[in-house]
Amino acid sequence: MQELESLKDIIALPKKIVITTHHKPDADALGSSLGMANYLIKKGHEVDVITPSDYPSFLHWMKGNKKVINFEDLSKQEKAIKKIESADVIICLDFSCLSRLNSMQSYVNNATAYKVNIDHHQDPKNFSDFNYWSTSAAATCELVYDLIVKIGDHDLIDKDIAECLYAGIMTDTGGFKHPNTTKNVHLVTAELIGLGADNTKISKLIYDTNSIDKLKFLGFAITRRLTILENLHTAYFSITKKDLKKYNSQTGDTEGLVNYALSLEGIKIAALFTERDDAVKISFRSTHDVAINKFAAAFFDGGGHKNASGGKSEMGLKETTDRFEKLIKKNKKALLNQLELVHENN
Ligand code: 5GP
Ligand code: MN
Repeated sequence: MQELESLKDIIALPKKIVITTHHKPDADALGSSLGMANYLIKKGHEVDVITPSDYPSFLHWMKGNKKVINFEDLSKQEKAIKKIESADVIICLDFSCLSRLNSMQSYVNNATAYKVNIDHHQDPKNFSDFNYWSTSAAATCELVYDLIVKIGDHDLIDKDIAECLYAGIMTDTGGFKHPNTTKNVHLVTAELIGLGADNTKISKLIYDTNSIDKLKFLGFAITRRLTILENLHTAYFSITKKDLKKYNSQTGDTEGLVNYALSLEGIKIAALFTERDDAVKISFRSTHDVAINKFAAAFFDGGGHKNASGGKSEMGLKETTDRFEKLIKKNKKALLNQLELVHENN
C-alpha cells in the first residue's frame, strides 16, 4: 500500500505519460491502454499511447484510437522515441517482460521515466518502479479498474473508459467462458455496464464484424491446414505466408482460429503456427488440466497463461511443426499429468 501512495503522489500533478502495451495488441492490451489513457487525460495529464505494432480494425472504435502512435509506422517513429525519452511516467500494460515490445524495447528500457507495470501474466520480470500484478486477474482491464477504484477515482470512470475496459475483460475470458471468469470478473463487468458500457454493442463490434475473406480463410484453414493427432489429444493449424496473402489476411484475422482446434472433442492441446517474415509465431491453447505455458516456455521461447500461451520459432514452418509433434509425443504423459517436462535430448 506504501507503493500505491507513491503512485498516487506521482499522478497527483500533471505529468507527461506514455502508455504502452505488447506487440500486436489484443482487446485487453488496447482496452487497458486506452481505458487508462482516457482516465489520466481526465486527471489533467499529457498522455500518449504508443503501441509496438498495429492492431486489428475491430478495435478501432475505442475512444482515443485515432491518436495512438504505431511505433512501426516509420513516419512517426522519431516522434515516438522523443516522447518515450522525455516521459515522466511510462505505463506498461498487459505484458510482463520488455521483450514483448519488440523494436520499442531498448527505448523503454533506457528511458529515465518512473515505470509502472500492470499485468496478469506469469513470471513478471522486475523492470518497473511500481508493479500492480496478479495472475488471478482475468484481464489487465480488470486490474486497471481495480487500481482506479483503489486510487479513489471510481467517479472518473465514464462510458468511454468503461467500454474500453469491458472489451478486454470480455475477450480475455473468452466471452465469460474460461476458468478465469471469477466472481470479481462478474462484479467488475456489472459495474462497467452500470457505468454505461454497452455490452451488446461491444460484443457485436468485436465478434461480428468479420470480412468475407476472413470467413473464407477460416473454412480453408479447417479443411486444408488442420492436423489432428487424436492419440496425443492434440490438434494444430499450420499457416504459410502464401495462405495469408491468398486470403488477404489482415491483422487480427487469425485471432481465435486456434480455438477451433481446441473445440474438437477429445482435444486438450491446440496450436496455431503462422509463418511470418522473421519467424514462426505460435499460439498455444489447452484445456484446464494441461499447463501449456510451461511447454511454450521450455521449448518455444514463449510463455503466457496456463491455458493460453504463445511463443516463436526461428526454424522453418515444417521443421517447427515436426519438432512440435516430436515434443508433444515425448511429453504426452508429462503434459496430461502435469509432471516435469522431458527435454529434447533426454
Ligand atoms: P495469443 O495466442 O493470443 O497471441 O497469445 C496468448 C497469450 O500468450 C498472450 O496473452 C500472452 O500471454 C502469451 N504470449 C503470446 N506470445 C508470447 C510470446 O512470444 N512470449 C510470451 N512470453 N508470451 C506470449
Ligand atoms: Mn490480457
